Order: sequence, then C-alpha cells, then structure tokens
Amino acid sequence: MKVGIIGLGAMGLGMARRLAQAGFLAGVYNRTAAKMAEFSVTHYAQPEALAADMDVIVLCVSADKDVLDMVEAIATTIKPNTIVIDTSTVSSETAQQAAACLAKHNAAFLDAPVSGGVEGAKNGTLSMMVGGDAAVLERVRPILACMTARIIHIGATGSGQATKAVNQIMCAGINQAVTEALAFAEAQQLPMAKVIEVIAGGAAGNWFLDHRGLTMTQGEFSTGFKLALHHKDLKIAELMAAQAGVAIPLAAMTITDYEQLMREGYGDEDISALYRLK
Ligand code: NAP
Repeated sequence: MKVGIIGLGAMGLGMARRLAQAGFLAGVYNRTAAKMAEFSVTHYAQPEALAADMDVIVLCVSADKDVLDMVEAIATTIKPNTIVIDTSTVSSETAQQAAACLAKHNAAFLDAPVSGGVEGAKNGTLSMMVGGDAAVLERVRPILACMTARIIHIGATGSGQATKAVNQIMCAGINQAVTEALAFAEAQQLPMAKVIEVIAGGAAGNWFLDHRGLTMTQGEFSTGFKLALHHKDLKIAELMAAQAGVAIPLAAMTITDYEQLMREGYGDEDISALYRLK
C-alpha cells in the first residue's frame, strides 16, 4: 500500500521519518514546502495530487479547521477504498464530519490521535487511540506499528478524539503539579537535577517530569508541544465537559494560565513554559 503523509510539523516529521525508515512512505505534502526537502519520496505541491496517488493517507495538522480543509481538498481526488488516518488532536465532531465527507467518496477514515510527544514520534513509541471501523484499523495496523508502541481501538468514529481529550485534561493537571512542585523545590534551594532524578524513580514519577523537568528549571522551553496547541485541546475538552455536566477545574485553570502566556507572546513555547508563572 502506498502511504502519504500531510503535515510535517513537530509530530508529523517524526512520524514521516519512521514511515520512510520502514519502507512505507511514498509521498509527502507540507504547506511550507521547505520541510519536505529531506525526504527522497515524491513531494506534492498540493494535497489533492498526493491523494490521487495514495492508498493510505496520514494527516498531522494543527486544529479542527485545518483537518477539515485538508479532508475537503483530498476528497476531490481520493481513490475509493483509500484509508485516511488523522493523527491530529481535534474534536470528536470534526472526526465525524471528516468521516462523513470521505464516506461520500467511498474512502474510510480513522480518528487516531497520539500521545507521547515529539520524542514518541521520533522513536516510534507513540500511544495511539483509534475511533472508527475496527476492520479498517486492522488493514493499516502493520503500517501504524512503525510509529507506535501501542494502538488501542476505542470504538466508533470520534471515540479516539474523546479519549485524547481525557489525555489532555490529565496532562493539564500533571503540568500544574510538576511546575508548581519544581518551583517549590527551587525556592527551597535544592539541587534540581538530584531532586528530579530521585522523584522520577518514585510514586510521583511521570513522563513530563522525565522529559521536561530539567529543561524547564533551566529556562529552556523550545522543544516539544506548543502551549497554544494544548490550549486548543483544552478548549475542546471544556466544551465536551460542559455538555456532559462534568467539572474540570484543573483544566480551566490551565486554560487561564496559557491565555496569559499567549498574551505575553509565549504561545509557541512548550507547555512546560507554565513554569514561567510559578
Ligand atoms: P506543529 O509543529 O505546529 O505543525 C503543524 C503542522 O500542520 C505543520 O506541518 C503545518 O504546516 C500544518 N498545518 C497547519 N495548518 C495547516 C493548514 N491549514 N493546511 C495545511 N497544513 C497545515 O504542530 P505539531 O506539534 O506537529 O502538532 C500537530 C498535531 O498533533 C496537533 O493537532 C497537535 O495538537 C497534535 N499533537 C502534538 C503533540 C506534540 O507533542 N507536539 C503530541 C500529540 C499530538 P506548516 O509547516 O506549513 O506550518
């Protein structure tokens, strides 16, 4: 099966490299063409042209409108039985709209958001939560395996994105806990590297502490997951929580904090830039 990818940002780039290394990648499209340069497969100037050639299309773009724009574009040229796998983080409703649009052209859609950060994309260790037809997932599972350590089919279309909202709410709480605790450690004038090393090995250890603990205390926020993107995800979760009558106060607090950081010009920094406010 010929696999193409649309979106070579922080996540898409790592995923595309894994697909290329595994021998699956046949074509790439990125809005900013320069990011395609490193790939020795076909570079497409338009998503429509990529779609006309591929059997499987992986999407990794920023937000809901971007996903729908790309899906509407590829729907004009897509071949019947093509499988589109959206790894972006968007709403369940967007996933359902995308699936409906592609179904009109007899193409299948899986919402397949991922967790594991840029490191997970680079190393092929992402955790992928999938909504859509389980039989369709089985057809592409061997391809997705080169990018992931874990692929779980959750349920119907949109359920992958609903699960990702769970993940993003949890990440907000973890971000609050880690940044607050490390600011406290600094105020105690503790040796930060030692504090992080020992805590990472105990009950409070977590991915975010492992990968962002030291860098945040060194004022380094360039790597990883843009806080403006996490803000976008938490706004989706906020709406879903309101509809379900569930309170998510830690996420609400994180939205407010991110909005302050975005006003101050830090929206493109990693989510660990929350440390700036602690
Ligand atoms: P990013 O570095 O900002 O990259 C965004 C990508 O989307 C770029 O390739 C960009 O093209 C493309 N794009 C955006 N809008 C587009 C449009 N309207 N048309 C065509 N292409 C468009 O973001 P990222 O960190 O890779 O995140 C991508 C998605 O994965 C997001 O939904 C994010 O929430 C999710 N995610 C991120 C992480 C993480 O740790 N970073 C982890 C899990 C999930 P250009 O190069 O032209 O700008």
